[in-house]
Amino acid sequence: MTATKQVQTTCPYCGVGCGIDAVVDEPNRQIKIQGDKAHPANFGRLCSKGSALGETIELNSRLLEPVVYGQQATWSEALDLVADSFANAVKTYGPEAVAIYGSGQLLTEDYYVANKLMKGFIGSANMDTNSRLCMSSSVAGHKRAFGSDTVPGCYEDYELADMMVLIGSNTAWCHPVSFQRIRAAKDANPALKIVVIDPRRTVTCDIADLHLPLASGSDGFLFNGLLKFLAEHNVLNQAYIDQHTEGFAAAIAAANRFSVEAVAQHCLLDAADVAQFYHWFAGHEKVLSLYSQGINQSSSGTDKVDAIINCHLATGRIGKPGMGPFSLTGQPNAMGGREVGGLAHQLAAHMDFSNAGDIDRVARFWNSPNIAQKPGLPAVELFDAVYDGKIKALWIMGTNPVVSLPNADKIKQALKRCDFVAVSDCIANTDTGVFAHVLLPAQGWSEKDGTVTNSERCISRQRALLDAAGSAMPDWWILTQVARRLGFEEAFHYKKPVEIFREHAALSGFENDEVHGLRDFDISGYAHISDAAYDALQPAQWPVNRLYPKGRARIFDDGKYFTASGKAQFIAVTPQTPINLPDAEFPLVLNTGRLRDQWHTMTRTTIAAKLNQHKPEPFVEVHPDDAARYGLEAQALAQLETRWGAMLARVDIATGQKPGNVFVPMHWTEQFASWGRMGALVNPVFDPISKQPESKHTPVRIKPYRAAWYGFVLSRHELDLKGPEYLVKVKGNQFYRYELAGQSIPESWQDWFAKTVGESLLDTWFCQEYHDAAKGNYRAACLEGDRLQAVFFASAEVNLPERGWLTGLFEKPGLQVNECRALLTGLPPVGEADVGTIVCACFNVGKKTIAAAIKEKSLKTHQEVGQCLKAGTNCGSCIPEIKALL
Ligand code: SF4
Repeated sequence: MTATKQVQTTCPYCGVGCGIDAVVDEPNRQIKIQGDKAHPANFGRLCSKGSALGETIELNSRLLEPVVYGQQATWSEALDLVADSFANAVKTYGPEAVAIYGSGQLLTEDYYVANKLMKGFIGSANMDTNSRLCMSSSVAGHKRAFGSDTVPGCYEDYELADMMVLIGSNTAWCHPVSFQRIRAAKDANPALKIVVIDPRRTVTCDIADLHLPLASGSDGFLFNGLLKFLAEHNVLNQAYIDQHTEGFAAAIAAANRFSVEAVAQHCLLDAADVAQFYHWFAGHEKVLSLYSQGINQSSSGTDKVDAIINCHLATGRIGKPGMGPFSLTGQPNAMGGREVGGLAHQLAAHMDFSNAGDIDRVARFWNSPNIAQKPGLPAVELFDAVYDGKIKALWIMGTNPVVSLPNADKIKQALKRCDFVAVSDCIANTDTGVFAHVLLPAQGWSEKDGTVTNSERCISRQRALLDAAGSAMPDWWILTQVARRLGFEEAFHYKKPVEIFREHAALSGFENDEVHGLRDFDISGYAHISDAAYDALQPAQWPVNRLYPKGRARIFDDGKYFTASGKAQFIAVTPQTPINLPDAEFPLVLNTGRLRDQWHTMTRTTIAAKLNQHKPEPFVEVHPDDAARYGLEAQALAQLETRWGAMLARVDIATGQKPGNVFVPMHWTEQFASWGRMGALVNPVFDPISKQPESKHTPVRIKPYRAAWYGFVLSRHELDLKGPEYLVKVKGNQFYRYELAGQSIPESWQDWFAKTVGESLLDTWFCQEYHDAAKGNYRAACLEGDRLQAVFFASAEVNLPERGWLTGLFEKPGLQVNECRALLTGLPPVGEADVGTIVCACFNVGKKTIAAAIKEKSLKTHQEVGQCLKAGTNCGSCIPEIKALL
């Protein structure tokens, strides 16, 4: 009998921070995943990504050993080189010549050590993180309004609200379990009003009473107008404004020019819809405003955050059950990174460089000889400094800036020019790792051990389930070894994560009292936590201290803020339009965002075949009017160009897309698509306060990409396929799919196919082929016995058969005679169905299967579809799409 153990841990993907009950079969390195029914973030629910975690722990894609200049090396060799390179750069050029670029994937303990090393001991604050791209506008907005980076509310408010406003958030895909809770709240209370504010009509609108498809970037106008409306309709909470806030007069003066009609004009909305939203907001006391990247990723994101907060302060709707502004963080530990000072302007424990007392306090606590005295460079400027040769040694941890940063082609050039680049990652092949002089194998989820903090300030344990893969080590250990080599042995004495956690907790409580001034982040209740208690730590929302030993669900319920006066600050907002506007050359607005089944740059989610089937290729969503205007056809290819870069994508004509706007997903890298990196397109402008890039608004042009040929290869074995301009690789269940298009037609399709799949293999297989040279069609299918091995379709036309039926054949142990005969048609034989594009990733149910069942069985609800096909009955992420089919 196999020995198994049950371990509670936390999902490593989004900021919802779902708890997981993992049943671990250690000898066989297998994990069965279930939602943790007791975890307050999810109460047992998981989305498609979380549910598939057990399928992502294989070792094939892992970085297992250190690599130095392309050769496998020992840990000592790799660590010596990192330390020497950093030391030499500091000695020759000063501490500003080195930098660390971290990630919201790091655990809090890793983050703490990285920040302490860079800011406290190397003496430069050039430590920034990919969280800069995600929520730094929320940090800055909170800090201006509250005096602290505090999320006031908690998830329980979903069930207590009377109205929810989802702003710049495709919650259904980006925070799926939160969306499930919101849907359940709506089902339980149909009177709950839900308003979605987003230029796109996304699947989140499935539960909306009202969708406001505002002009991209115009949110500041909308919320300024709301503040004016609230004042005019006597909805202000004057007592709250008087007792607990400052600056209202300036804020309302700034808002006063925004009548409903003016807002409608600025935002390109119906005035009646704007008025409806304002009336509902005015009429519901318990309003929750949930906002995400659509607000943050803007050149005026900080103002937008404060425009939302203004409306809550003006009505006193903050810090109480069911109400308040609520920033939904993107990454699993974006909040933990903020706690330890992962952003370049922060220090640690919610202290920062704007306060000399903070610098002195942290220096004394760390016994730091050399603490940085000023903020470091935020992400975009940091990589500009690398490009300009000012940063000579760079260490990138758990992130892929060659894909995710704006103007991403420049990031490639920057890394090429840099004297020394170290990359710590758990994955061997990444677009960023290509430029590394040293690759450091970091432990991945299921191996590493520490804590993360989710969007509602809830600290949870991420626990090790398996032994480390190869020689992979925890990030905190790697950092500690380099720190010791740099001469900081005493300050970096850690032997296990609990020691770091205790120190982090102690710093949060250090001089955090009435005498020295109170700070919001205080987990001093954990400063003496025992090893055993840390192992058993249960989720708790900070602060955790003498006053709140079990944590605190809501902050500001007492009306006390962390400003000098103790009062919240209204911010007078002058709404701005985005910096780069469309023009004759680049007439459209490019929007970017996440997909349901992928995470960030796909390094881990693509390992689970089931997560690659919902949206297998990079695509561009275009409104039908724009498709007609620019000659684009559904499922054909399009070329997108901005002043910064180019991308190829499959055309998806979508009525939910706002005319004049296009949307592309953020996930594809050069590991999976030849021209699919959206970061190459994005303008490198940013908010002057938060320094967060404007990833939702870049002027772009689009045109059909006309290739000389189009095709696809399906292969049981992974291929080393290069050449065609358009090349997308998709891992499936027992097959790899390659989508292709090229400008030059090979002289012989037979030769090309033979070289592609391997000539020696072809000799042992039985192959059928069809060639119509006049029409430019070639098709081949190869079997070994009755088992399908490879299929190749090429054509001068883009319209090839759908791949669903053919890919499904790879799961069969053997093909029937009628299936073999049908192979070169690409269509199922009579009596066999094509499942179509996968809609339900959990149960592998396709669009055509669902559509057929709806028609044949007269199904009326998603519940009936679930009973019939199981689709939508596990994680529920696909319910909006099932409802769309209904
Ligand atoms: Fe993970 Fe999904 Fe939960 Fe996010 S919503 S934490 S991705 S299971």
